[in-house]
Order: sequence, then C-alpha cells, then structure tokens
Amino acid sequence: MQSSILSGVPSCTVRKLDSQQQLRPACLTASPLNRHSAQSGLSSVGRGHTQLPAACPASRAGGRVRQSLRTRAQVFDNPAPGQYDYIIVGGGTAGCVLANRLTADGTKNVLVLEAGLPNGDKIVKIPAGITRLFQSHLDWNLYSNKQDQLHARQVYSPRGKLLGGSSSTNATLYHRGTAQDYDNWGIENWGARDVLDWFIRCENNDNGAVTGIHGIGGTMHVENPRYHNELHDVFFEAAKQYGLKHNPDFNDWGTQQEGYGEFQVTQEKGERADMYRQYMKPAEGRSNLTVVTQAKTLKVEMEHQGGRPVARGVHFSTRNPANPAHQAELKPGGEVLMCAGAVHTPQLLQLSGIGGADHLRKFGIDVLSDLPGMGRNLQDHPAAINSFTMREEKEGISVTDHIYRKSGQIRVRALTNYALRRRGPLTTTACDHGAFMTTQSQAQPDLQIRFAPASALVPDGVETYAMFGRLKEEGKKWPSGFSFQLVAIRPQSRDGYVQLRTTDPWDAPDLSIGYFTDKRGEDIATLRNGVQIARKMAKMDAFRDYLKDEVWPGSHVQTDGELDEYLKGSVHSANALIGSCQMGSDVSKGAVVDSQLRVHGAKNLRVIDASVIPIIPGAQTGAATVMVAERAAAMIMGQTVPKPNEPARFPEPVAA
Ligand code: FAD
Repeated sequence: MQSSILSGVPSCTVRKLDSQQQLRPACLTASPLNRHSAQSGLSSVGRGHTQLPAACPASRAGGRVRQSLRTRAQVFDNPAPGQYDYIIVGGGTAGCVLANRLTADGTKNVLVLEAGLPNGDKIVKIPAGITRLFQSHLDWNLYSNKQDQLHARQVYSPRGKLLGGSSSTNATLYHRGTAQDYDNWGIENWGARDVLDWFIRCENNDNGAVTGIHGIGGTMHVENPRYHNELHDVFFEAAKQYGLKHNPDFNDWGTQQEGYGEFQVTQEKGERADMYRQYMKPAEGRSNLTVVTQAKTLKVEMEHQGGRPVARGVHFSTRNPANPAHQAELKPGGEVLMCAGAVHTPQLLQLSGIGGADHLRKFGIDVLSDLPGMGRNLQDHPAAINSFTMREEKEGISVTDHIYRKSGQIRVRALTNYALRRRGPLTTTACDHGAFMTTQSQAQPDLQIRFAPASALVPDGVETYAMFGRLKEEGKKWPSGFSFQLVAIRPQSRDGYVQLRTTDPWDAPDLSIGYFTDKRGEDIATLRNGVQIARKMAKMDAFRDYLKDEVWPGSHVQTDGELDEYLKGSVHSANALIGSCQMGSDVSKGAVVDSQLRVHGAKNLRVIDASVIPIIPGAQTGAATVMVAERAAAMIMGQTVPKPNEPARFPEPVAA
C-alpha cells in the first residue's frame, strides 16, 4: 500500500483525537517521516511517497487503532494527515449531522476539525446543567461590540465550544417555526413543502408519528418536558384567562402558532439529546471518520483554477497560537464544508479571502471572491424579562427551590429523582412552557413568551441563568418567584454583522448584534407589548395566591418611554444567531451561498450551518439547522428523497 506523506495512512487513522491527548498509533508517532510532514505544508504534497511501516498493527487490523502513546512530539505531528473527501470545519450541530451522513456508506473519508473539547462532561447531559455552561470553558464567551442603540452595552452571545456545538449548550426547545417562515425565504426547493418532509424524517418523536406533522425512526429525539411545576398550571390558567387558546402542538403546520402550551424538547428520557450524541457518536466507530478536537481551523486554503478560487484544504492549529499550524488536504474533487456557526464561519471565510472586497482590502487580505453579503444580515431573537417574587405562603415552589435548599446545597431529592428516574427539576432548562402571540399587525406571531417558574436576579435572562449556575460558589440566596421571558420571535432588525477585527484567527471577530435597528421600531414594540401582556397575565386571577412584587422591570417603570429605556438597558440574546452567510441567488443582494449551499464564486466550498438561513424563523433555530444539514448531506451525496405518501397539512393562507 502506497501513500504520500500527507495522504498518509488511511488504515492507520485514529478515529477520534483530542489534539492535546492524541491517541496515536506508535507507527505514526515514531515515524520521522510523519514528524517531517507535520512541519511541511500543503505545498509539500507530492514531495515524496512512503510506505506504511509494515509493523503498524493498525495497517493489519484494517482500521481501528487502540494503542496510545503520549509524547510532547505529538503536538508537532499533524493529527490529520492524508487526504479527505470532505473536511468539516466545526463539529457542532450541523457538523455532527454531516459527519454521520457523509460516512454512512463507507465510500468517503471525512475529517472533522473541532476547536472545542470532546463532549464528555456529564453536566452537558443534564438539561438543568445549562446554567453552568454559560461563560464556561465550553462556551466561546463572545460579546458584541458596543451597541449605541442599547446604551452602548456589549451583548453576550453564548455559543457552544465542544463536539455538538451549541446543541450541547442550548435550552433543548424543539420548534420549527411555521410553513410561512420557509415560504418567506423565497428560495426554490426550500419552501415549506420542501422542508417539512425533512423535519419529519429527522425526527424520532416520543409521542409517535403523526402524518404530515411528526416522525419516528429519525435521528433527532423529541419528547415532552418531563418536569412539572404547579406554576406551569397557573401560567396556563392565566394565559387562558387572558384570552389565549391552548396549542397542543406548536409544530403542527395545520394550525396557527398562537396559543399557550408545552414546548417539546430535544431530549431522550430527560437527558439532553444533542447532535453529538445523536449523530456523531454512533458514527465514531467508522474507519472513514476522523475527528480531531481542540483543533482550530485558521483559514481555508484556496488556489486559483481557471480564474476561480478552489478549496484545497484548511490550515488548523491545536489549542493555542503557540502551537504550529497544520494542514488538512482534500482529495481531488473533495469539499471543505464550513460548519463553524453563524459567527465563526463568516470570520474564517473572510480570513480566507472570501468576503466584501472593501472590507478585506482594509486588512490587506487578497480578495478571492467578492461577496459583499459575507458576515452581513446577522439576525437573532432579542429577549427581555418581566419577573416577580412569590407570596410567603407559596415560597419554596419555584424550580430554583426544587433544585437548591436555602443553604445553597443541591437537594438530594432532585439528584436521586434524576439519577433513578430521569425526572424532576434537573430535566428542565426552565423555559419549556409558554406561548406565541401576535401583538402588532403582523400576519404571524411576533412574540414568544417563555414562562420560567423562577424569579430573575437580574433583568438579563442569560446572565440570570449564569448566576444560578454559580449559586453555590457565590453563596447567593435565590428568592422564590416566576418570570416571563419575552422574545421578539420574528424580529425585523437586519443590521447585525460579523466582520474582521484583526487578521489574527485567534481573535474574536467584530460582532454587532443589531437589536432594535429596524426602522419602524417593531422589535422594541414587540418586547414592550410583551412586558405589558406579561404584567396583565401576572395580574390574572390565576396568579392571585402567588404574586407578591414585580422585580423587573419594577412597578415604577410604566410609560412607553420608561419601558423602552428598560429594554435598551437589558435586552439580551435568546440565542438564535443566523443569516451571516445567507442563501440566495443574487450576490449583489447579499447572497453568499446558492441553494445547494455552495459559496458563490468559489469551488469545492460550502457553508452548512445556521449562517445560511436567510430569514430567522419564528422558532428556536436548532431544528432548522439540523434540517439544513440533513438536506445538504443528501445534496452532496446526490441523493433524492421520495415525496411523502400522504400530503402534509398546511394552514389556510393568512391574509397579510
Ligand atoms: P454550532 O452548533 O454552534 O457549531 C459550530 C461549531 O464550530 C462549534 O462546535 C464550534 O466550537 C466550532 N468552531 C467554531 N469555530 C471553529 C474553528 N475556527 N475551527 C474549528 N471549529 C470551530 N436552538 C433550539 O432549537 N432550541 C433551543 O432551546 C436553543 N437554545 C439555545 C441556547 C443557547 C445558549 C445557544 C447558544 C443556542 C440555542 N439554540 C437553540 C440555537 C441552536 O443551538 C443553534 O441554532 C444551532 O446549534 C446552530 O448550529 P450550528 O451548526 O450553526 O453551530
């Protein structure tokens, strides 16, 4: 068997590597040729060929390598030697889907480079563990630049940094949005009828299949929340008294999205069912999949062919800037698949010479493809808090009370209930009940209410979660209460962006979150209306025995002007970044990828993650990202999907 220096030794490939704890076959680690290859670049390919050492046990075993050897030299060895049919940049939500699908038939060699850690932390599995993941070592700790329209605040934007990406740090809510959301994209083959079938195919719904709505046997596990708090019933009753109808299934496109109810979750028997666990883990034993963690991609290697930039591979580095850069190389005709998420994908492409020409030139970067829309059109769901404390006689019933004692010790009951039955307060991310409402004249709901049976210590919902995660260390007391997180679920602001701050790939990009930049002020109006509606709900008879005081914004905040000031000072992320490499056909209108997710003007390069979604759906964005990745995998593999036997149910068109 012959192989070039970098094409390496396919049968000796280590299945899953943490680049700092690489399990390397002795034959590779010891080989001076391999050490040499680590220091050579893509340009060195073809410099020579070498024979796989006959003594390498993996070569005889035909794949699996179980030996381990840790030496300092490992850092200098290229953990991704060889050539790959597909290099997946980012082992997050979309990256995990692709890793599974593209290796399934065994014909393609796939490399995944993930900047974060492997997915081994127990806290990730426990839904309530989300509170410990914010601002942690499993998070990118991104902040926007100063937002003038938000009192010059820098808004925190959590993003998962581990295998599974943000699906491993998210709130697990399973929402697709509505049929109208996808028809509004206006992109051929991505309308509601095209995507619904994929949502259903991906799904393994605990409640069973429902024709045209839910599927079973797919990879993505969906179930109803398993934790019940009496405050959920109180909220439902208050919503009813307010005039809302019960919505038994927010993902049923045959009915309207309005109403109150339970939000389904991507969990499996009370454990987080992230995309690592569901898609990548089952594929880890495949000999044609190599996964390297703590491997940060620095740049896509492009070369000109017939006047067109063509992806050849990527440069990546392990753990920190002091470590040497390695290269991973594509086989002829192979593709680089960008799955680094809505912030890092546009940053990396800009560093690689693909982006707005003026912007790139400012940084002295050669322009390979002038795409003015790169990094633009970033959208997110802005959120606000309306929170209340509880009357003394009802104290102790919030989810926070169910998890912690007053002393700050975690309750044994919560632990055993979770350990033995996967039930109780540790199975919830505390926002899995709520409502959708239309508060203005839009054709679709503009407001999502996420009801939390817990009070908020600060008016920033994300920060309040993070504080709860640090409760033990900080010794804070958490008052009983309940909160409404108001989310502008179909925001109109489009001024968010991701641009370069420096040319150093280790630096965070210049991120502008762009909340409240829509000209008509609809987004802030949605949140203002949301606070007013939540206040009214809290005053409904249902809450009479529970409500004590309003904490946020506080009863002194009453006029529209006062409410707007509160919102500008506290609006935070509901964590749905999309749009920064938007799909579309017209580059002059900001399109970055075509409807096959190929980067305009480039070859062998696609973007497959949340950044291609052109308009934010009225839903949390994890399900849509999985749907995009599943469809992309089928496109890449040239598969077609038969149409469903029975027609999907769609709502009557709503007059705009
Ligand atoms: P990600 O899943 O973020 O994956 C990107 C991956 O790329 C990460 O693993 C990252 O470490 C890696 N990466 C980045 N840069 C590099 C680099 N240079 N080199 C190598 N690797 C790199 N959605 C829902 O549906 N329901 C929810 O309840 C929900 N709640 C959320 C709560 C939070 C706190 C967050 C952060 C998100 C939430 N979302 C939710 C949104 C949803 O999780 C995301 O839309 C989805 O995960 C995005 O998938 P992605 O593949 O685009 O990016």
